[in-house]
Amino acid sequence: MAIREILTVPNPILKKVSQDVPEVNDNIRKLMDDMLDTMYAAPGIGLAAIQIGEPLNVIVMDLAGEGEEKAPRYFVNPEILELDDEFVPYNEGCLSVPDIFDEVDRPKRAKITYLNYDGERVTEWAEGLYAVCIQHEMDHLKGIVFLDHLSKLKRDRAIKKVRKAEKLKAAS
Ligand code: ZN
Repeated sequence: MAIREILTVPNPILKKVSQDVPEVNDNIRKLMDDMLDTMYAAPGIGLAAIQIGEPLNVIVMDLAGEGEEKAPRYFVNPEILELDDEFVPYNEGCLSVPDIFDEVDRPKRAKITYLNYDGERVTEWAEGLYAVCIQHEMDHLKGIVFLDHLSKLKRDRAIKKVRKAEKLKAAS
């Protein structure tokens, strides 16, 4: 397992559309292990493969609260089958947009289907934080970051802030 570099906006790779994985094999499991390590180290609650530069439809997530036992979830080739008509706001953040948070409205529930770590098909409704996180991560697979749901003004301001912080980090 290894910790990989997380790409940040406005890196053009984050705009790439990811592709389905032909099968859940050991290479994909190795990728998911690395992604989980990278996410825990950040720390964050969700990570899409494109955030470490791999344009594949693979997501890892862990929604366990502080002090709770780890509960990793793995999603390969996820698809949304149905969305709730009701939208709810959530103050979102993203490892590719460090230290920026803003409210995004998304459907309250999402029915999803995906392959798990063992390549088994799972179909279920995601609700609450799970619904927010899976929709946020699945946006990444289409080259969309949460800033794209905000106004251009807010988006430009956020990207400027991230760039400035990266420059400071590189200089220190
Ligand atoms: Zn994100």
